[in-house]
Amino acid sequence: MTEKLIISISGMRGIVGENLFPQTAVEYGAAFGTFLKRSKGKDLKVCVGRDSRPSGQMIESAVIAGLCSVGVNVVQVGLVITPSVGIMVRELQCDGGVMITASHNPIPYNGIKLILDNGIAPPLKVSQNIKLIYEQKDFSFVGSAESGKVCPDNSAYDIHIEKVISLIDVELIASKNFEVVLDSVNGAGGPVALQMLKKLNCQVTPVNTEPTGIFAHTPEPIAENLVSLSGHVKKSRADIGLAQDPDADRLAIIDENGNFIGEEYSLALVAMYIFGKKKGKAAANLSTSRMIDDIAAKHGSEVIRTAVGEANVAKAMIENDCVIGGEGNGGIIDLRVGPIRDSLVGIAFVLQLMAETGKKVSQLVKEIGGYHMIKEKIRAEKEDAVKIISAAKEKFINANVNETDGCRFDFEDGWLHLRTSNTEPVMRIIAEAKTKESAEKYMKQVKEIIGS
Ligand code: MG
Repeated sequence: MTEKLIISISGMRGIVGENLFPQTAVEYGAAFGTFLKRSKGKDLKVCVGRDSRPSGQMIESAVIAGLCSVGVNVVQVGLVITPSVGIMVRELQCDGGVMITASHNPIPYNGIKLILDNGIAPPLKVSQNIKLIYEQKDFSFVGSAESGKVCPDNSAYDIHIEKVISLIDVELIASKNFEVVLDSVNGAGGPVALQMLKKLNCQVTPVNTEPTGIFAHTPEPIAENLVSLSGHVKKSRADIGLAQDPDADRLAIIDENGNFIGEEYSLALVAMYIFGKKKGKAAANLSTSRMIDDIAAKHGSEVIRTAVGEANVAKAMIENDCVIGGEGNGGIIDLRVGPIRDSLVGIAFVLQLMAETGKKVSQLVKEIGGYHMIKEKIRAEKEDAVKIISAAKEKFINANVNETDGCRFDFEDGWLHLRTSNTEPVMRIIAEAKTKESAEKYMKQVKEIIGS
């Protein structure tokens, strides 16, 4: 494997034993602690959690050692899901948080995700500052007497679940006795989702809910990886199938017929519920389906579009007091729970929507209507990407253009989003339109620009 260790806004990700070692994690922990000390002063505490990967305990111990080595205290919440760390940072008034996870990446990977005291990933400037401290090994080590202390805390799931179910009608959902199949891919999500579903009186068929970190299938919750879950839903004639990624910040849904409805519908279904109840705006990244705009428009509201990245969506939500937000990959954010993507929020609201309307998932999906989305990835150096985007701007002269992140072109029946990656020489192209033909037409037009 020739991949490099990646250090980006949301933290660090690498392959354990290849480019991610305990010493890497110690130094990254020390860098984060040093940054916090310099910006916030003394007596600091940081909440640290990990997903279920086999390397989790090793990386967790190393990060904790790094934090303690610069005099930062640690609240160790153990094996949890990513949104629980975000919630505990705020609940316990910590000065920051660290989640050990490589999200949807396979077992060889692990990562260190950083969270500030507001529950959000650091903005670009801050993350660059932390990276510099790490690269220059500019750590503020302390002596023995000032070393940070570690305090275990097992309350994350009770607090998290309580926050989520306080937003729904538990008795109503419980009265429906929903049959649910849950696939947590042996990531961290199983135990907490089962605990919440039990409170909601759901009859659960658990699939891969043991948090062993030995992923039962390729972990990203997309169609090709959820074939087995679809089969379970069909066989057990369940009302719904739920799939979490390994750190359970993303949710994908299978309908009662065993059909994968597409990860874009997770946010759309939740938006359908929230907009039916509350007035206010939504926020979503530029690569998210237009379904959410349609739902917002139906309720006289609108969607603020942000750069891709959870922190960008969360920031826009806070600034605009949004009632719902998220990303099309199944990431749903409700600020009342926390400014972080949370599969539990998605599960709770979709069950509430089903309970209130008495409708099946497939009926709700039909009501939302749909689009056809095509995603492609091409190799493009930064300068090529700039050329492609400027040629596209000349070609799509009548489109509405949004250049917050790459370039998005909005047409009457669909849109195109061209964006480059910050970490690799890649351009991602997404085309979405009401019909397959139209989406293919937009993609073809971009390909003509690239080919010319
Ligand atoms: Mg994830």
